[in-house]
Amino acid sequence: MSLSLLSPHCNFFQVHNLFALKITYTKSATKINMALQIPIVNTKDITDTASILQMYLPSVLYSTCFNDDKLPFAVEVQATEIGHLFEHILLEYLCYFKLLTGEKSAEYSGVTKWNWEKDPWGVFNITINAGLDEFEIFAQAMQQTILLTQYILNEYNPNSLALPTQFLEGPSVQPVFDQLER
Ligand SMILES: [Zn+2]
Repeated sequence: MSLSLLSPHCNFFQVHNLFALKITYTKSATKINMALQIPIVNTKDITDTASILQMYLPSVLYSTCFNDDKLPFAVEVQATEIGHLFEHILLEYLCYFKLLTGEKSAEYSGVTKWNWEKDPWGVFNITINAGLDEFEIFAQAMQQTILLTQYILNEYNPNSLALPTQFLEGPSVQPVFDQLER
């Protein structure tokens, strides 16, 4: 799969008419500002979320989740903020690609926050403990995360483009601008 769309210098993505991502990297962490552009913010409005995950990334349903109600993620995912879903998918793909490199174990953590009094409605701030030190793994994980999230959100959006038939082969992400950090 091509990784050409993700580079440490490319920090803004528009994903169809669904969401925009602003990504800020450091050596060991990445901050992702996710702005939804659809009129929903919670997976309770996308009834197929769990079954899509079951089909394409079943391990994420068994991932550890520190939510207020102490629900397992398989339950939490049926009614959770879309930014939180994105975080869990990304963490799972990070583990997946790390294990592919031959590592015996992989563990990543993240946190998703939102404050819609300060930010516009539908904006999430996600922090992940993987950054430039592991950029190759991160880029692969991020690309798959964008594609799978797009696939799930398309299940809701009635005006969206037709679903890609082989969505895992992308690319369906368009970098909007490059910004070099000097
Ligand atoms: Zn969680």
